[in-house]
Amino acid sequence: MAANMNPKKNPMPTQDPLVRARNIDEVALGYDEQTAVDEALRCLNCKNMPCVDGCPVKIHIPEFISAIKEGEFEKAYQIISKSSSLPAVCGRVCPQETQCESKCVRGIKGESVGIGRLERFVADWHNTFSKEEPVKPESNGHKVAIVGSGPSGLTCAGDLAKKGYDVTVYEALHTAGGVLVYGIPEFRLPKSIVAKEVETLNSMIPIWKKNKSEVKDEDYEIMQTGIDVCKKLNEKYKNYINLSFIFDKNMITGYKASPIDEGKEKFLQLFKERIVL
Ligand code: SF4
Repeated sequence: MAANMNPKKNPMPTQDPLVRARNIDEVALGYDEQTAVDEALRCLNCKNMPCVDGCPVKIHIPEFISAIKEGEFEKAYQIISKSSSLPAVCGRVCPQETQCESKCVRGIKGESVGIGRLERFVADWHNTFSKEEPVKPESNGHKVAIVGSGPSGLTCAGDLAKKGYDVTVYEALHTAGGVLVYGIPEFRLPKSIVAKEVETLNSMIPIWKKNKSEVKDEDYEIMQTGIDVCKKLNEKYKNYINLSFIFDKNMITGYKASPIDEGKEKFLQLFKERIVL
């Protein structure tokens, strides 16, 4: 199919203002299949992939967009899920305009490819139509505790579970999702979208405990925490790391505030070996 050289992105369909003024439903409605393919055709499949450099989790962007061009939406989802555990969330609330889309070559003489909109489309398509079940990899025998099921916890849990780690997620509140559920309003990120992502993860990570006081350091080789717990853990937990910066670089302060050097060292080693990301 010929490339689409329109300098403008396909606009995001939205609720009519007079309608949305009377509800709290999501404002953006998402691309349909035809619009997604048309937007995908704006991608030039650049060999040096500058967009991937701008993505914190290094999604294979040109590859998943090429699958959309061919109408292979499930294949596009599988490509994204190799690098992201929350594509429907990231397709909605990631700041693409300062990350992947800011590096897109189509942005030089026009608007960048709508990478976030395409990611959202693919994730929504999968959640609506796909019958594929996530496959739980064989256990590698290592146990990891995740304290808090916010975006960093869910991402860490998903990535480690895909690599065969035996992950347990602890959540003190009644709903998994952390700031995704308690900090982002419904019209921007519907709770049902977060719940669906958690459900998908839950099929790989069957254990969800409700109280972080149940966590025993000696049971786990590594303990990952989000920003909130990081500030509260006391020194009896020797091996915790903080990965909150994955989703919000402002939260790096949480990692820097980590009082236990051993935890930092372990984190840096894992990061270097690309075990976590
Ligand atoms: S930089 Fe833009 S045009 Fe090039 S591969 Fe990435 S998304 Fe496509």
